[in-house]
Amino acid sequence: MSAAQKKHWILRIVLLLAAAYIAGALAGRLHAQVKEKSQATETDMPTEEESNAADTQVSGQEPEAAVQEPMQIALTFDDGPNPYYTRTLLEGLKKRGVKATFFVLGSEVEKFPDILEEVYADGHLIGVHSYEHVNFGEIGDEAAQKQIERTLEVIHDVTGEYTGFIRPPYGCWKDSLDSRVNLIEVLWDVDPLDWATTDADTVVQRIIEDTEEGSIILLHDASESSIQAAFTVIDALTDQGYEFVTVDELLLE
Ligand SMILES: [Zn+2]
Repeated sequence: MSAAQKKHWILRIVLLLAAAYIAGALAGRLHAQVKEKSQATETDMPTEEESNAADTQVSGQEPEAAVQEPMQIALTFDDGPNPYYTRTLLEGLKKRGVKATFFVLGSEVEKFPDILEEVYADGHLIGVHSYEHVNFGEIGDEAAQKQIERTLEVIHDVTGEYTGFIRPPYGCWKDSLDSRVNLIEVLWDVDPLDWATTDADTVVQRIIEDTEEGSIILLHDASESSIQAAFTVIDALTDQGYEFVTVDELLLE
């Protein structure tokens, strides 16, 4: 072997060693990379503790959403049934899925039994107002009792039910009537004085200002402005999170 040939062989061995070293180093690095990656995957997986914490957080939000119940209020309409306005009111209430309470006059029920039948069929609550819109504070107990009993009977003739609720005209009740009449007296806390104006916006503004959870709103199905105000109020207060119910739901639950 010549010196040049020897040199050539030494160079080949060095190159082979170098190649082997590089290959080994590369393999080692690749292994390290794979390990790193698998470790990273392990670290990304949440621990049991973290999973529980996440569950708690999610379930902690659910009940909060469930307890948020609508604030209940009641719309009440006195002095009907009215031949001009009650049916329009019923249509608007039905369209909005709202139930209301009607305190009716016995004399008007006798004149318009079909309208009261519709009120009843639509699922609204019916109560006694009086027979001829009298002030119970100004008449004798016996006369007051007759007004009430006669109205109970004419309502029963139409609906087949005796109502358990009364709203005395002008909110005037006498304690002495308690022993004669077994009815729940329903007054109000929101009175927009709708009978004294023909401006629906004024009525709407007064109601929205004074209404809070549990409010009983006094209206009359006796004018166009009153029923238009009722519709606007329903739309606005429903948007504010209120739910309209009949007074029995409000008072007895
Ligand atoms: Zn009245």
